[in-house]
Amino acid sequence: SAPARDRLRIAIQKSGRLADPARSLLAACGLSWRQSRDKLFCFGESLPVDLLLVRDDDIPGLIADGVCDLGVVGLNELDEQAKARRQQGLPDAYQPLRGLGFGQCRLMIAVPEDWDWQGVAQLSGKRIATSYPAILAAWLRDKGVDAQVVELSGSVEIAPKLGTADLICDLVSSGATLAANQLKPVETLLDSEAVLAGPVHELDDARAGLMAMLLRRLDGLSRVQD
Ligand code: ATP
Ligand code: ZN
Repeated sequence: SAPARDRLRIAIQKSGRLADPARSLLAACGLSWRQSRDKLFCFGESLPVDLLLVRDDDIPGLIADGVCDLGVVGLNELDEQAKARRQQGLPDAYQPLRGLGFGQCRLMIAVPEDWDWQGVAQLSGKRIATSYPAILAAWLRDKGVDAQVVELSGSVEIAPKLGTADLICDLVSSGATLAANQLKPVETLLDSEAVLAGPVHELDDARAGLMAMLLRRLDGLSRVQD
């Protein structure tokens, strides 16, 4: 089994939508760090809780591999990677522990504005561009719709204009990006927000106590905010 560790390691996004709110929330829990020179690793000063600054896509894998104990990541990303693991027959390796109240967005199906939307049966035989192929495939299966999933890593919203897909499945917050691309949202697959993700099995060394304390402090914060 893995060697005992006495410091907790939390992965957060290095830069992007979740970076600042994640850091602020952890600071509000009483954590502080000595900034390292390369800024990929922040050594915890007030408590033995260190930060690893990474791309959000890497966070579930870092928890699965035991490199990090916790992570702040969008439920969309966590759920996508969890479903991809299941589709590969791998065991569950992480779970959302707490919703954090920021990074709200929806994973939605969006179709060209001029479509007369009748319902999900209309998706049958169509090509759907997305960066969330596992969630989309599971949703299509659940709805009994046979459509083609076109996996794209970025610029999903221009795929219909480019002719590489008929419609898209993408994250939506204000809807401005969809409107700018003459698309309209019609179905919601997932209501997402940033979550604190952790392992499926409890830790059995000093990190367990640190994790419990951090969760208590987080819960205390959300009571004050409510
Ligand atoms: P990285 O460089 O870390 O891979 P990224 O470009 O994948 O960054 P961001 O655009 O910063 O990531 O989004 C991070 C998370 O913010 C998303 O996974 C999602 O949970 C959340 N989010 C909230 N609103 C939106 C939105 N309108 N579009 C995209 N993501 C959003
Ligand atoms: Zn990313």
